[in-house]
Amino acid sequence: MLDQNPRNMPQETGKQDLQVLSEYLVQQAFALGAHGAAAIAPDQVLIQDDLAELCAEMKCDGFGQSMSCPPQVAGPKWLRAKLAQAPLVLAFKFDVQTEILHSSQRWDLFGLLHQTAASLEDIARQAGFESSFGLAGGSCKNIFCSGHYQCQVLFEGGPCRNPDSARPSMSGFGVNVKDLAGVLGWPMESTVSDPTSGRMPTALLAGMVVVL
Ligand code: SF4
Repeated sequence: MLDQNPRNMPQETGKQDLQVLSEYLVQQAFALGAHGAAAIAPDQVLIQDDLAELCAEMKCDGFGQSMSCPPQVAGPKWLRAKLAQAPLVLAFKFDVQTEILHSSQRWDLFGLLHQTAASLEDIARQAGFESSFGLAGGSCKNIFCSGHYQCQVLFEGGPCRNPDSARPSMSGFGVNVKDLAGVLGWPMESTVSDPTSGRMPTALLAGMVVVL
């Protein structure tokens, strides 16, 4: 247990304060159900323009369909600038069953990823870092608004239907998730014990909060 509550911690934080904040955010990520969480230095997040460009080049079905994906997101240059100002980044992950990831249930898993990013963003903001923002993965149109014809923000000029859950996808900012997992020692693929088959394959879903 932490012996210090970092809420309302001033922006001018010392090394010790950041350590307390890091531990607090990691603890909160686990409390929300994350399978892994760690605070890292912002310069440990590798951003690649070419990865962000893949969204259009690969004709991802999320491209241009919501506010969480290119070309609506601010992109790699913007994220690099934010990371340069940030004292730390909280990364978190879920190890999800590959079988589910390849089924129609996958949107529930991505929904959990978005909601966790949004919750941790809120926790970081309440701790005094009011410009913190969460990033997740996957298109919020597919995840939260599949029952609607189109994104209410993008095509109707209205408010987001899921402002407390939907967060931008890391892909559109060029975040190299594989590299991030390597930095953290998180395997992209693993297995968990399963009473029926013995071992069941899992894959990593990651998100982050840029604490700012
Ligand atoms: S309205 Fe739906 S599709 Fe549009 S940004 Fe919000 S969650 Fe995403």
